[in-house]
Amino acid sequence: MDDAARKKATHICRLLQQNYGDTVVEQASPPIDELVMTILSQNTTDVNSQRAYDNLRTTYPTWEEVMSAPEDEMARVIRSSGYYKLKAKRIKAALSEIQRRVGDLDLSLLSDMATDDAAQWLTSLHGVGPKTAAIVLLFSFGRPTLPVDTHVWRVTRRLGLVPLKVSRENAQPMLESIIPAHCLCSLNHNLVLHGRRVCRARNPLCSECFLSTLCDWYASGTWK
Ligand code: SF4
Repeated sequence: MDDAARKKATHICRLLQQNYGDTVVEQASPPIDELVMTILSQNTTDVNSQRAYDNLRTTYPTWEEVMSAPEDEMARVIRSSGYYKLKAKRIKAALSEIQRRVGDLDLSLLSDMATDDAAQWLTSLHGVGPKTAAIVLLFSFGRPTLPVDTHVWRVTRRLGLVPLKVSRENAQPMLESIIPAHCLCSLNHNLVLHGRRVCRARNPLCSECFLSTLCDWYASGTWK
């Protein structure tokens, strides 16, 4: 990636911060908490996944109890998150695998690994994809990663930060190479907000968008 792409990415970060604010992680969340929360948040709203997470922690105060709880019973506890049977299976499989590999429900070994190795370790757990791994590494370990969800993927492709036809998996390293590390946290949050509020999948509000002068999609006239 060239300097022009880096400059454009930095400019976009700044405009997003001016409009939506800066996200600062004041306290890193424990990695297993983050991992489970992220699995629960797949394909549902923040409200529903938070409700499921709170219910899970109240019902089973330790991760050991979650790991050994009957799967059907645990699935009912996280029902509000949707796809609860699949998520229960994924959470229990991830916890069991961590216990098997590490000998404990503890992910602090990742702090001694290079970011790519840590991401590889996490994605080798059943049901943990690149986005989930990036969230854990960014919010629990402060690593320079960018979780690419459907909003981040759509908005960055339209803006022209990555090619329109790039896959979600390939977009992540391309974006990480052009975005300054200190912007990654707020950019992740702000791109999701922008994707929900303005750059929607259908009928994006291009004529009201403060990023339009930097946007390839807008310049192409596709939005009209
Ligand atoms: S101008 Fe349109 S396509 Fe470009 S970022 Fe804004 S809303 Fe999205």
